[in-house]
Amino acid sequence: SREIRLKSRPDGLPSAANFEVATVDVAAPGAGEVLVRNTWMSVDPYMRGRMTDRASYVPPFALGEALQGGALGEVVASNAEGFAPGDLVSSFFGWRESFVAPAAALEKLARAANVPDQAYLGVLGMPGHTAYAGLLEIGQPKAGETVFVSGGAGAVGSVVAQIAKIKGCTVVATAGTDAKCDWLRARGVDHAINYRTCGDLLGAVRAAVPKGIDIYFDNVGGEHLEVAIEVARPYARFAECGMISGYNAAEMTGPRNIIQVVGKSLRIRGFIVSEFAALRPQFLADMTGWIADGRIKWEETVLDGVEKAPDAFIGLFSGGNTGKMLVKL
Ligand code: NDP
Repeated sequence: SREIRLKSRPDGLPSAANFEVATVDVAAPGAGEVLVRNTWMSVDPYMRGRMTDRASYVPPFALGEALQGGALGEVVASNAEGFAPGDLVSSFFGWRESFVAPAAALEKLARAANVPDQAYLGVLGMPGHTAYAGLLEIGQPKAGETVFVSGGAGAVGSVVAQIAKIKGCTVVATAGTDAKCDWLRARGVDHAINYRTCGDLLGAVRAAVPKGIDIYFDNVGGEHLEVAIEVARPYARFAECGMISGYNAAEMTGPRNIIQVVGKSLRIRGFIVSEFAALRPQFLADMTGWIADGRIKWEETVLDGVEKAPDAFIGLFSGGNTGKMLVKL
């Protein structure tokens, strides 16, 4: 079975040289263990943080060991109660083709009738949950309010944009290509801005929503965050989900207009999705309903083969994905 290991810690943008493919033997499952063949794995921006050797909310990856991350797989052999060959399971044993793990490290998933398995890594999984919890719990959107979301065509952002429409908000979203902006408009987004070609991001957002924004859902940080502060209305809520524009930088720079947080009484609140784990049943119920109604749609970008996982991961930082970036194993 092949696995991807971290060979060296990236300095700036990760490159293929930071990764290596290794082949390992996978033993038969012992008592209480399960042998799983992975079918899908996720690459996510937060993994960049784990490639740097510093303390964070998740420990750094070790050099020379297989990377970890969300994955879906099929049970091949089981020595544990509750798991049988053919079962669909999710785990954090991504970046490898097969593995043996104790049953407690696996979650058995019910195959949903109207969605493919890999949706559990996207719209019905961690990114969807992040969008749902961040927008609804921190943003507290009310009908008629204006929501600004950066990274609007990504796994999290595309769900934020659509839930904001379901909640009756005006939505302004940014993305890095015209095709991504077209997709957002087709999903009902009122104003989609290509931040790479618009020239003046502040001017473009102002022109789109002259009365300002009530909620900012931040996936990008940097200039986007500064623009959001500039156009925020008093008491606007900021859901600080991520700041991908700074993940490869040695040092992040802060918004130069941060003083406006005081005068506008802004509420800027960061979060990690695990804080909202208790919302999962409600998230799954709402999301499966919205999918069935056609109110939530999604895109995915799929690379084939575990050896492509580094390329998929690196592609996140240049916008190589529309919707969820996935690797099919
Ligand atoms: P995406 O699917 O959004 O993929 C990343 C996207 O970011 C790319 O497609 C690209 O799109 C955009 N991007 C990359 N570099 C830049 C840049 N310099 N400036 C602007 N946009 C850029 O990833 P996710 O949906 O999985 O994650 C989105 C954000 O949410 C990340 O910041 C991530 O860290 C965060 N996150 C936080 C969680 C939490 O618990 N707090 C959980 C999950 C995700 P484009 O073409 O538009 O540039």
